[in-house]
Amino acid sequence: MKIFKDKQTLQKEISKTNGISFVPTMGGLHKGHISLIKQSKRFKLKTLVSIFVNPKQFNKERDFRNYPRNPKNDLKILKKLKINYLYIPKYKDIYGFKPKQKVFLDKFSKRLCGRYRKGHFEGVLNVVNRFIEIIKPKYIFLGKKDYQQLYLIKKHIERRKIKTKIIECKTIREINGVACSSRNLNLNKNQMKIASNIYYYLYNIKKKIKKNYNLFNINKIKKDLIDLGANKIDYLENYNIKNFKKLKKASKKFNLFFAYHIKNTRLIDNI
Ligand code: AMP
Repeated sequence: MKIFKDKQTLQKEISKTNGISFVPTMGGLHKGHISLIKQSKRFKLKTLVSIFVNPKQFNKERDFRNYPRNPKNDLKILKKLKINYLYIPKYKDIYGFKPKQKVFLDKFSKRLCGRYRKGHFEGVLNVVNRFIEIIKPKYIFLGKKDYQQLYLIKKHIERRKIKTKIIECKTIREINGVACSSRNLNLNKNQMKIASNIYYYLYNIKKKIKKNYNLFNINKIKKDLIDLGANKIDYLENYNIKNFKKLKKASKKFNLFFAYHIKNTRLIDNI
């Protein structure tokens, strides 16, 4: 595994390859990231993983500071996976140039997480656009756990006619149902149990809503989540995942999107 800290040496190396399969991350690696990397390795191009905690996508300084970082463990995991390249850029490497493409921000960026984290998706698209210009990957691997993010990146790539192809990867969960997330590192045992109970509760509700849409009583569900131990619910909404239209009646193709807090930890998921 070759480690790069600046884009000039990285680009020189990339120019010798047949193309790159790219897995962007913010570190704090877990089974979700590992599954993206394993899929990337199947594509038979060189796999490049980046670790960059992007300050521009955090709307609160405290959230940025508290974001779980675990560089030693990350290195151990990546070495074991035998990836080809690791890129750990400094802020200036990413933000010290003017990208050729302007970011396209679809209007859906105002919904769900966009309503509760002002500037979040502007920050995500900004960094992804820059990474794509630096690396020019053939493939980029993104997790469905962050489905709104994936959708908005897809819209940007389509609108700007970028050649990179998105590979959508399924959500990996702990045995207790909770979606793997770097932020889970901030949960204690009891809080993890709360997250697990919330997952199973919503999983079962979704099954029932599929049969009878009248059961989608948001206020009742939100109250139940608080009773289960959540401290605050940001949102709980149903969308058709193909076009992000809101549902009015029962349909097979919908996901339940939710974001909630357990003490200071904010968790998002969709099922
Ligand atoms: P992050 O490091 O949280 O920015 O995530 C980097 C990539 O890993 C994103 O494409 C995420 O959607 C993806 N990812 C994070 N958690 C999971 C998970 N539990 N299952 C699958 N992919 C995930």
